[in-house]
Amino acid sequence: MAGTRTFSIIKPDATERNLTGAVNKVIEDGGLRIVAQRRIQMTQVQAERFYGVHSERPFFGELVEFMTSGPVVVQVLEGENAVARYRDIMGATNPAEAADGTIRKLFAKSIGENSAHGSDSDENAELEIAQFFSAADIVG
Ligand code: ATP
Ligand code: MG
Repeated sequence: MAGTRTFSIIKPDATERNLTGAVNKVIEDGGLRIVAQRRIQMTQVQAERFYGVHSERPFFGELVEFMTSGPVVVQVLEGENAVARYRDIMGATNPAEAADGTIRKLFAKSIGENSAHGSDSDENAELEIAQFFSAADIVG
């Protein structure tokens, strides 16, 4: 049975260390299905739009610079309760606070270079997916 969907990004710190497959294994072992995936180089315009909600935060410039510093892998993940489930699989934003076995505990280098992004609501998941994928790219 198809579940709900969330949007994921494997961030540049993880692609740089050749961890795409390792991150994907944690995602799949956690019960989510990767139903779309593409490796891209984000442009400054894309990153600024994607993280627009954080534009007033002090780390915004650093965040955009990081997200455009190397390749990322954008993904659509599907499964029951996908948004909340993926946030559990990723762990806390700060890897020092992330639970054992989570992507950020296993792989993140710091609160900024934290290996993965996941949507924070169904509504944002839909918007984020639409920023990077058309319906024909997603095969559940
Ligand atoms: P994401 O949105 O990437 O899934 P999140 O929802 O856990 O992560 P947010 O609060 O939405 O965290 O922050 C977005 C991203 O901004 C974080 O993943 C991290 O890369 C960066 N970030 C957040 N807080 C800081 C900080 N204090 N210093 C540097 N970067 C930060
Ligand atoms: Mg967030």
